[in-house]
Amino acid sequence: MTHEEQVKRMTEMMAKFVGHTAKKLPDDVIAKLEELRSKEDSPMAKVIYDTMFRNQELAVKLDRPSCQDTGVLQFWVKCGTRFPLIDDLEALLKEAVIKATFETPLRHNSVETFDEYNTGKNVGKGTPTVWWDIVPNSDSCEIYTYMAGGGCTLPGNATVLMPGEGYEGVTKFVLDRMTSYGLNACPPLLVGVGVATSVETAALLSKKALMRPIGSHNENERAAKMEKLLEDGINAIGLGPQGMGGNYSVMGVHIENTARHPSAIGVAVNVGCWSHRRGHIIFDKDLNYTITTHSGVEL
Ligand code: SF4
Repeated sequence: MTHEEQVKRMTEMMAKFVGHTAKKLPDDVIAKLEELRSKEDSPMAKVIYDTMFRNQELAVKLDRPSCQDTGVLQFWVKCGTRFPLIDDLEALLKEAVIKATFETPLRHNSVETFDEYNTGKNVGKGTPTVWWDIVPNSDSCEIYTYMAGGGCTLPGNATVLMPGEGYEGVTKFVLDRMTSYGLNACPPLLVGVGVATSVETAALLSKKALMRPIGSHNENERAAKMEKLLEDGINAIGLGPQGMGGNYSVMGVHIENTARHPSAIGVAVNVGCWSHRRGHIIFDKDLNYTITTHSGVEL
């Protein structure tokens, strides 16, 4: 393949992959929703879970997105410095989003701020969002795709706590968001928490946390314990599926952290809804791909 043909091929594959993630949830999300359905005992909670699974079946059968809000597209790219399409990647992802918008189709979710018009293509100034992690001495490229819907984006928040507020302060901050805005985000939720120094470091970590597989834990034992305690605490609020009440409010709580300044605790929370449309695809230098989030996909 020539370089131009490779760019075209990768654009097509990314457009198809984005379209697929709009219609079918990742395997780990489906498994978790099945587990939570089996653990709920109220008839209302069971009916809501049944409706969610019926919705998933129909989305595949009718070949259309499972939620009307297909979000703003966000990509987290971990790209090797020797990946042959590294220079083309950002433009290629933008093109893939336009293609996916018309082929899938996706709702038009890119409004130019201050000019207040919808571009009608899901791309605009800075959208789709692309975050870069550059990987030295590698010729492969990992891409996480994410559809950030309006409702699930709403509980997002970041602040810097006084050091004396400690981990109790982090807990209070997260639970305050869950009790005020958790309902808006179509539970059961996946809650991402970032703990670092400043608002932007914490905020980016809280989004990165949402890319982790459900059931994974922070590698630090204490952080993993806090994930469990927060999970129990948010479950105890009793949001249940779609906020209509139930034993479980969350699919999980993921904390990501860095070391921090001793005088500040930056904390952020980011939320994924039950329709947690994230995808993960890895390309090698010849554009052979591996998809880790969705089984049985051919691009
Ligand atoms: S919160 Fe999620 S499931 Fe609910 S409307 Fe938004 S994108 Fe759809």
